[in-house]
Amino acid sequence: MAGPVLAYWLRRHGFTPTLVERAPGPRKTGGHAVDLFRPAIEIVERMGVLPAILGKTTASDVLTLLSDADPAGVEIELKRFMAAFSDRHLEIMREDLSEILHDASFGIEAIFGDSITALKQREDAVEVSFEHAPAREFELVIGADGLHSNVRRLVFGPEEQFTEYVGAYLAVVTMPNYLGLSDRTLLYRTPGRMIGLYAAPHSGDARAVFLWNSERPLGVHHRDIPGQKQVLRTTFGDLGWEVPRVLAELDHTPAFYFDSVSQLKLQSWSRGRISLVGDAGYCPGPAIGGSTSLAVVGAYVLAGELAAARGDHSRAFAVCEASLLPYVLASRRFALHTARQLIARGRGELWLQARALRLLSVMPARWGRAIVDLGRQRTRLHDTMLVRDYTSEAGVAG
Ligand SMILES: Cc1cc2nc3c(=O)[nH]c(=O)nc-3n(C[C@H](O)[C@H](O)[C@H](O)COP(=O)(O)OP(=O)(O)OC[C@H]3O[C@@H](n4cnc5c(N)ncnc54)[C@H](O)[C@@H]3O)c2cc1C
Repeated sequence: MAGPVLAYWLRRHGFTPTLVERAPGPRKTGGHAVDLFRPAIEIVERMGVLPAILGKTTASDVLTLLSDADPAGVEIELKRFMAAFSDRHLEIMREDLSEILHDASFGIEAIFGDSITALKQREDAVEVSFEHAPAREFELVIGADGLHSNVRRLVFGPEEQFTEYVGAYLAVVTMPNYLGLSDRTLLYRTPGRMIGLYAAPHSGDARAVFLWNSERPLGVHHRDIPGQKQVLRTTFGDLGWEVPRVLAELDHTPAFYFDSVSQLKLQSWSRGRISLVGDAGYCPGPAIGGSTSLAVVGAYVLAGELAAARGDHSRAFAVCEASLLPYVLASRRFALHTARQLIARGRGELWLQARALRLLSVMPARWGRAIVDLGRQRTRLHDTMLVRDYTSEAGVAG
């Protein structure tokens, strides 16, 4: 997400970026639905890709909460529920958004199937070595390589120094839409665990999203896919409902995502000519803190500040960090709050949560907003983030 958005805006501001991606091509498969909130929507609008995004939004209108305490299900109207959090919001499958953003950066030099192995900073450039491509020099290097960033490890040190495990895990399984789901998401919850099933509307398949509490990190590496699948089988193997059918899909799934819900604690993410953007620099936690919106905003602001500083990277990095930090810190606070609330720990909590969510989804949006604003976690944080419009400034094509 952050990579292609950054490349797009750098080119538009007159820079000559090069994208480096470990995958053999643009990452278009797997993952689940991601949210774009007001500031990120304004940015993709300025990129001219909003119509394409609107053509690919997800179709879930109704969320049915199922549990042993609520076998018949409690229905939540999703659009009205989300209106309490942001007055401009859309949801799209990660792979669809990724494809649209990559298409927008068409023509920019890209090195696929490769990764950086060493970075050596000089006063005027960075010497970059790759696993496969010959070494090259660049004026700047920006790590947009996600929560487990390789660039961050090379420059700042091992990941463990900067991440805090938030107490939960997330997995997403791509599978056939055997239930024929269309505009309804089913969410089956037990204390400490939940499984969501919904249709991915433009690919014809469905996604199963697993989210569960685990007091301690599980010690499974983020690249150990067989180990991760075994964790899912062990954690959910005792459940009924659709769970046995979904777990059977683990043997055939074409795309599988698994990660701990962890938060980055870095408060500054630049060193010399190297900086970080998106999850690599400030991840609030997968699935809980609006990481995708934050990545889009971060990429846009970084490119805009580099242009505004006429290439003076030290100034640009400092201004960019200062303007993003309040948004990053608020997203992290929000994410910790969400992580605590999202997964109910007991049967009573399951029952109560379902009623509270239902209430929020049926009341008029302005009441919902008022209730949400009462929370100390500034849940409407995305709407409060003001992003400078770099397109209206001198020398930048509007
Ligand atoms: C395939 C996939 C599925 C995802 N599914 C979900 C999901 O279901 N739920 C959720 O909450 N979040 C998911 N995420 C994370 C989510 O996309 C991000 O939290 C958010 O969009 C912020 O985007 P980002 O660009 O900062 O990081 P990411 O979207 O994680 O992108 C990082 C990119 O860097 C690439 N990369 C990683 N390491 C290297 C390397 N060494 N060299 C070169 N390139 C590298 C990755 O292939 C990826 O394209 C997923 C990420 C990926 C890559």
